[in-house]
Amino acid sequence: MVNFQPTEEQQLIRDTIAGFAQEIIRPAAHEADETGLIPSSLVQQAWELGITQSTIPEAWGGAGEIPSAFTGALICEELAWADLAIALHLLAPRLVIQPVLALGNDTQQQHVLPAYTEPTFTAGTAAVMEPRFGFDVNELATTATRRNEDILLNGAKCYTPLAAEARHLLVYARSESGVAAFLVPRDTPGLVIGEREKNMGMKALATYELTLNDCRLPASAQLNGALSPLLNRSRVALSALAVGVARAAFDYARDYAKERRAFGTAIAQKQAIAFMLADMAIEIDAARLLTWEAAWKIDAGQDTPLEAVSGATREACLAKNYAANMVLKVTDNAVQILGGHGYIRDHPVELWLRNGRGFATFEGLAMV
Ligand SMILES: Cc1cc2nc3c(=O)[nH]c(=O)nc-3n(C[C@H](O)[C@H](O)[C@H](O)COP(=O)(O)OP(=O)(O)OC[C@H]3O[C@@H](n4cnc5c(N)ncnc54)[C@H](O)[C@@H]3O)c2cc1C
Repeated sequence: MVNFQPTEEQQLIRDTIAGFAQEIIRPAAHEADETGLIPSSLVQQAWELGITQSTIPEAWGGAGEIPSAFTGALICEELAWADLAIALHLLAPRLVIQPVLALGNDTQQQHVLPAYTEPTFTAGTAAVMEPRFGFDVNELATTATRRNEDILLNGAKCYTPLAAEARHLLVYARSESGVAAFLVPRDTPGLVIGEREKNMGMKALATYELTLNDCRLPASAQLNGALSPLLNRSRVALSALAVGVARAAFDYARDYAKERRAFGTAIAQKQAIAFMLADMAIEIDAARLLTWEAAWKIDAGQDTPLEAVSGATREACLAKNYAANMVLKVTDNAVQILGGHGYIRDHPVELWLRNGRGFATFEGLAMV
């Protein structure tokens, strides 16, 4: 039976993150967007909460918590409610940690994971997207070719968060056996990290284009195993992040509409606004339920590649597609509800609209 009741432990995690998000992240969000900088003290405080590295086994210095897509969804929603750019910065190391935990052999885990249990924030990242028309994660243009005992990576990537400071980059490329992931230390010859990108939203998140020119790796850099469960986890996380952004916009617009008076009454009393708010609430709950359903299937062990159709892939894709459209609609409505005030940067709704716009392109277009 489907059950979305968080356990006591999950509730405790959610409350802790919600408190941190409200007290520490949200007050820093506007300044971070204006300056493009996230305070390192904030990043360090979040690191010390242990949310990013909690699933690393005790043998490698972590807390050894069992990875759960549902717990991840709860964390993502709360962090993104506070600020999407900061949330993605804090979560970026998981782009290495989770795949290595899921697919890495003992040697790979021993080699990589201890770096992410160090006392200070350690950046890690994944390079998935490519700067070309018709990007599809299943049809990557970046290639991985065998050269004797080694592997050569060639291609270009974009929107790679924290690439300039990441200890490891997990590069996704097309190999002889299909799409595969490769652990690339940042100082590997042939890996060229370009200028920081200038994006419409998430201005506080440092993202980069990078090129791989005969980037030579030992064969042991490849993670072996099916990637679809990883992509499904990622889709669930993105959906939950979108729900968080939308909830932030809804909360703000609702409170504003209750305060703002026009023609003698609060605008929340006008049907035009009340209906808009009701639709926003419905859309957010619908996206959250889709997200949680996909997360529940993953946690129930129904996400094996053989179950691609009946397993979590379908739900994860539905959730991500729905959430990407939903967040755009909800944040746009929030700007509209604030009238002219929504368009100026004193209010955060324009920031949420710019940030929310990105979900339709992250890890491939929403319509692909
Ligand atoms: C880029 C930009 C340029 C501008 N330039 C000018 C300019 O040159 N000159 C100038 O004078 N003004 C200008 N404005 C201001 C603009 O005219 C006002 O923003 C606009 O009239 C809306 O008023 P408001 O922002 O106070 O919104 P509000 O009146 O607070 O409205 C907020 C929300 O409530 C809704 N609402 C309000 N009353 C009702 C009602 N009775 N029933 C149902 N819904 C209602 C609105 O549709 C809106 O969604 C500009 C605004 C922008 C964003």
